[in-house]
Amino acid sequence: MGLRKVSMSREVAGLLLEVARSVDPDEMIVLLHGKVNKDYAVVEEVSFPPQSIYGDSFSSFNPYSLPIDHSILGIAHSHPSGIGRPSAEDLDNFMGVMMVIVTAPYRDEKDIHVLDAEGRKIRLEIV
Ligand SMILES: [Zn+2]
Repeated sequence: MGLRKVSMSREVAGLLLEVARSVDPDEMIVLLHGKVNKDYAVVEEVSFPPQSIYGDSFSSFNPYSLPIDHSILGIAHSHPSGIGRPSAEDLDNFMGVMMVIVTAPYRDEKDIHVLDAEGRKIRLEIV
């Protein structure tokens, strides 16, 4: 069973856009924390993974180095290319219940793409 809807506050959305913008043209990687209620998830917080390496590819981030944390909903990373679709590598690195891709030019929620493990889009609501 997958998620049908994800919500996040304007503040969390703004933070994702800001971090992505600040490391562009490199890719950012952050962890998403929050709660899941059946097919609905709320992103409440963003944190920086340990040993995250900016400016390298997504594969440089090793999810197995993470502490076990059940509040982790998934990983958000950026695509300076502006393409909102996950790569095969992104799907291989899928963790949790959702994936977020933030695309250039990092302007607003239209640049925030929420996807499931198969790369299908999940509806995002800014609250
Ligand atoms: Zn990617």
